[in-house]
Order: sequence, then C-alpha cells, then structure tokens
Amino acid sequence: MSDWDRQIWDILLGPAFFGAPATGVDTQGGIIVHEVSHLAFGSEDYCRTMQGVLQCAPCAAVNSADTYEYYAEESAEGNGP
Ligand SMILES: [Zn+2]
Repeated sequence: MSDWDRQIWDILLGPAFFGAPATGVDTQGGIIVHEVSHLAFGSEDYCRTMQGVLQCAPCAAVNSADTYEYYAEESAEGNGP
C-alpha cells in the first residue's frame, strides 16, 4: 500500500500494539482510544506518560491523546470519577 492509497481514517497497528496488555496501563484498548482521539478530536501527543498527564497544564491535557487513553483505561479498571 502506498501513502497515496491510505485513507485519512486509517489507524496502522504495529508490534507495540500487539504486544500491549489487555488490562492496566498502555493497553490495546487504550491505544485505540488514543488513536481515535487524534482522528475525532484532533488531539496531540503532549503528555506521553500517566505522570505527564497528571502534571500537564489543563489546556494541554484536554488536547492530549494520552488524557483520553488513560481516562478510558482507569475507567475500565473502576477508577473513574
Ligand atoms: Zn498519539
């Protein structure tokens, strides 16, 4: 597949995805949420770790794909608000 054939909504999954755990932090589900937030909300990669998200300025955190990822993973673990 050339870059020309790729569609704007494609998410390409590599070895890091297939090696990610099903539960906890940085999971396969979390990676999908992270990538979809880029496509759906135009989020950026500001705060690359859980600690980074917690320390990120609110204006950056709301636009961070990692915020959506960690929120989904923590909610799945029963740690949501
Ligand atoms: Zn990202």
